This record gives sequence, structure tokens and C-alpha cells, in this order.
Amino acid sequence: MEKLIYLDNAATTALKPEVFEAMKPYFLENYSNPNSIYTFAQQSKKAVDEARETIAGLIGAKTNEIYFTAGGSESDNWAIKGCAEAFASKGKHIITTKIEHHAVLHTCEYLEKKGYEVTYLDVDETGMIRLEQLERAIRPDTILISIMFANNEIGTIEPIREIGAIAKKHGVLFHTDAVQAFGHVPIRVDELNIDMLSASAHKFHGPKGIGFFYMRNSVKLGAYVHGGAQERARRAGTSNVPGIVGMAKAAQLAAENMEENNKKIAAVRDHLIERVLAEIPFSRLNGHREYRLPNNANFCFRFIEGESLLILLDQKGICASSGSACTSGSLDPSHVLLAIGLPHEIAHGSLRLTLSEETTIEEADMVADSLKAIVERLRSMSPLYEDFIKNQS
Ligand SMILES: *Cc1c(COP(=O)(O)O)cnc(C)c1O
Repeated sequence: MEKLIYLDNAATTALKPEVFEAMKPYFLENYSNPNSIYTFAQQSKKAVDEARETIAGLIGAKTNEIYFTAGGSESDNWAIKGCAEAFASKGKHIITTKIEHHAVLHTCEYLEKKGYEVTYLDVDETGMIRLEQLERAIRPDTILISIMFANNEIGTIEPIREIGAIAKKHGVLFHTDAVQAFGHVPIRVDELNIDMLSASAHKFHGPKGIGFFYMRNSVKLGAYVHGGAQERARRAGTSNVPGIVGMAKAAQLAAENMEENNKKIAAVRDHLIERVLAEIPFSRLNGHREYRLPNNANFCFRFIEGESLLILLDQKGICASSGSACTSGSLDPSHVLLAIGLPHEIAHGSLRLTLSEETTIEEADMVADSLKAIVERLRSMSPLYEDFIKNQS
């Protein structure tokens, strides 16, 4: 098979060799439990402390506001269930959006069954929430606003600063699922009025199964995992030292090269978008043109079934996705594409290409060429397309 072209970086990213090297000693040489008392454990304790400082520094938080978790899903669950439990006596209303990741949506649905009320905000055709609708949705019993920083399917970046300001003005806590954003765009929690934030290492070239939860010190959620006193007695369990070290290393590398990398990635991405839109008829770009993640391109091709597109791309060694990794395998169209107003039959023909700093212009060209040929071939077999063309002429 020819060289793999990996364009599914929103699902997961390649671990950087430097990250692996940083982790290695904590698998092989110093496997100590950082909470042990002997000297041998001091190195891993120091490594965990330093990792926490690195992460905190990158978002302008205090070190004791960073909690290591097993990833984005756990951090999202903690924020939402934690608020529901801690503030039930104040109210049982939560505001989120229709385009959240399932880690947020399914947690909210679970709470609805437990008697909580959830408002799912609409988004406009670019995937942006409407600030007026958010403000109108706030009630005296609203305990949490949870809105993602950037969408994992269409890449739209939400107006986080404005959302934070509205939350603050009304005295409501604000959590953001920043799993697609942290390590990709600059984030300062104070400037953006973020009270809680979720992030996950494997989305920025770190290891899988490790993430962090930022919780402002003034937010007092209880323990999420009961047991030992790790993570300020709020998230028990022996620390995943190699994972924590790897995440900090990946975060640091991402931050060091962020601006330059983003320029490079966006240039390749824009080239791909321009070619696709210009050369493939009846194609459209989903998401916001300007406020979007630099590595995201999401298209719809009319008269095409997304699944067939993915299979034919796979035969060319191209890894792509039709929605989120969690929903692929199901035939339901993406909830995000439906929320931006696409009809079912168009939402079915979607394709998400998410690039990395390793993606070259040559690869983008190969993908554009392949896509063009595949879309043509699939349409040539589509009776719907045939009718449509006949009726047009
Ligand atoms: C990947 C992803 C998650 C889940 O993160 P895991 O670390 O895989 O649990 C949550 N939210 C968004 C937006 C994501 O892209």
C-alpha cells in the first residue's frame, strides 16, 4: 500500500517522538508511585509537579487548579455531574448547545433523567451560538453553562470571551470543553472568564488516556473519584506518571510552535478547501470560514453517501472521517450538521478532513485529486444525480 495520508487528527493525533522519549524513563527506570515516601519516588513526584506547573502556566491558571484525569470525556463528566451534584439546592437548570461532543450531550441527557432541566442552544448556519439566545436562556435556577471552545466536526470556534462575560454577569459558572482547542489555539482562563475547562492529551500529539480538568479555586466541586488523596482528594487513583509527563511535554511543544504551525497548517488546509470547492461541483464547506480551527475542513457533497466516500478514500490510503469518531459506524447523520440546518440527505454526504503540521501540500493535492475522482465515480452510479442533471438541462 502507498504511504498513509492521515487526515483524522480530530479523532486522535500521532504521538510525537519527543513526547515518547520524555515518557520512557517513567515506564522503565522510575516506575515509582509519586506518593511514596522513599527517595526513589521523589523523581516521579517532581515530574508530576512540574507537569502541573507547565499546564497551569499555559492557560494562566494556578497549579492547584489543574486536576489530572483520564481524558476529555472524564473531565466533561466531572464538570457537569459535579455541578449538578454540588449545586442541586440552588437549581437544576443547565445550558449547553446542540453541537457538543457526546461526552457533554450524553451526560446532560443522563441528568435530564435524574430531574435536571437542560437547554440546548441552537447554532447558526456557521455553527456559532447566538449570544442573545444564551442570555435569554439564563434563569435564577441555572447552575452551569457548558459550551465547547471549538467544535470537533466543523471546527467552528465559539465566542468564548463573550460567553464567559455573560456567565460572569449573571453569576453562573462557565465550563468549556476545550478538547479540540487546547494545544491548538491560545487559551487564558482569566481573560476568557472560564471557570472550568476540559482537555485531552491525545488531541495534541500526546498519549491517550490522560487529560486534565481545570477548576478555578472558587468553584468548589466535590470529589469525582473517591479513594486515595491524589489530585487534592478529588480524583483518586495512582497518578499516571508517564501519561502526565507526556501530556505536559506535548502541551509545551504545541505552545512553542503554535503560531507558526497554525499558519502552515491553515495554508495547506486552505489550498485543499479551494481546490475541492473549485473542482468538485455541488460541494460546500461546513463551519465558519474565519472562526475555525486551523486544521479543520468539513465538506458536504450532494448525492454522495459519506460512508462510501470513506471506504473509497481508505482504499487510497487516506484516513478521513464523516463525523465524529464516536458516531462513525452508525448511519445517523451528524447532530452537528443537522444543527447547522443541513437537511438529512445532505448531512449524510459529509466528509471531515483534519490536518496536522505534518500534512504537506503534495498530500493535500493527492487528496483533492482522489476526492474528485471518487465523487465523480459515485455520482455516475447515482440515479438521483442523473435525474438532477437531466432536470437541470
Ligand atoms: C475527543 C473529544 C472528547 C473526548 O476526549 P477523550 O480524551 O477521547 O475522552 C471530548 N470533547 C471533544 C470536543 C473531543 O473532540
